[in-house]
Amino acid sequence: MCRIAMICVHSCPLAMPGIEDAGGMNVYVRELSRELGKNGMGIDIFTRWIDPRIPQVVPLGDHARVIHLKAGPLEAIPKNQVFQHLPEFICSLRRFKEEQHLHYRLLHSHYWLSGWVAGLLRQRWNVPHVAMFHTLGALKNRARPEENESIQRIETEHKIIASADVLVVSSDDEKSQMVSLYGAKPDSIRVVPCGVDLDRFRPLDRLEAKRNLGLKGSPALLFVGRIEPLKGVDLLLDVVAELREQFANLHLLVLGGEASPSPGRASRNGELRRLENQVQRLGVAENVSFVGAIDQEKLPLYYNAADICVVPSHYESFSLVAAEALACGTPVVASKVGGLQSLVVDHHNGLLVPWRSPQAFATEISLLLRNEELRNHLALAARESVFPLGWSAIAKDIGFPIDELAEAAVDNELCLCGRW
Ligand code: UDP
Repeated sequence: MCRIAMICVHSCPLAMPGIEDAGGMNVYVRELSRELGKNGMGIDIFTRWIDPRIPQVVPLGDHARVIHLKAGPLEAIPKNQVFQHLPEFICSLRRFKEEQHLHYRLLHSHYWLSGWVAGLLRQRWNVPHVAMFHTLGALKNRARPEENESIQRIETEHKIIASADVLVVSSDDEKSQMVSLYGAKPDSIRVVPCGVDLDRFRPLDRLEAKRNLGLKGSPALLFVGRIEPLKGVDLLLDVVAELREQFANLHLLVLGGEASPSPGRASRNGELRRLENQVQRLGVAENVSFVGAIDQEKLPLYYNAADICVVPSHYESFSLVAAEALACGTPVVASKVGGLQSLVVDHHNGLLVPWRSPQAFATEISLLLRNEELRNHLALAARESVFPLGWSAIAKDIGFPIDELAEAAVDNELCLCGRW
């Protein structure tokens, strides 16, 4: 069996998406690994162990499993403290591999921290390295200078981009940014969009979904995602303030992060606190609910209850949320940035807003809320537009170069000479 080591150090694919750092990358690694496993590949996903109550090895469907490795404290730590524990992560991984007599034919890394690990193992094992970043430091800094991504991260990304055998990106935009900002060779980059679970995310009766969530006939906007400044929820709150005179009972549901705390208790997430203060300042508490993170099984109900799913991000390399909303037949209004530009086709399955200003978003959202015919037209095209993104198709697309590269590879545990 062709066995692949997936490296996903800083966040476990079993973590609940929408809380802290867990989001699209976790969903991606979990679903892709399941699908590759189904296709007969052996997939071992290595991640940092943060909770001793979770067993070291957790199966993930056919031939795929998650392996937790000791590296630093057995608890969650901020992402920017993970780098110092990477050498221990490598030692734990090698020990596990030796004890279990495992041989890998390929390394597939996710995010720069994992790319660093896979870059070193590539030299030891003499196997190809397929790297995917999900986000790039230089792109985040450009999209929102306050992100302040470290030089260490950006330099490491440069090294990974120069040394990996294949770079997987999820959109043409990410490819051209990787070439212009990091000097990547275009022919080392493979563009494969992210997938969406078309069975789980499907259209339901919208009125029934609204009733289920107690929304009655209110016009409903939906935000889904990690609660962090790059996602731009603050812009959406300004939009609600601008539109609530025009639309009686307008309601915005914010899914992700923690639910609003009971009165008198401050929420833990700093960004959530900032947003809650903004809600008070704007006087829109009646129109906004911070629902907290919702399990993926229940998300289709929310996507279906919403008239519009809004993605006001400063940057997105893809946006699984937009793909999931479209799969449910819900039009998307999104910033015209990054991978959203290949997913949302303006006036076909949603609307793209070129200016990240509350007024520009308010104009487009108001247009769509007023125009039922346009909404129905976009909703009809929405699901069809993501048909090619089923996970089995995406895994086949990704699986091909993995097969091809791994075929030639022999994991011979070369001794590590020199530094990477
Ligand atoms: N998500 C979820 N529950 C939530 C919020 C988010 O399951 O309460 C999932 C969402 O369904 C999507 C992922 O988290 O699959 C977010 O991915 P996306 O690519 O939109 O954003 P990223 O986290 O990669 O920035």
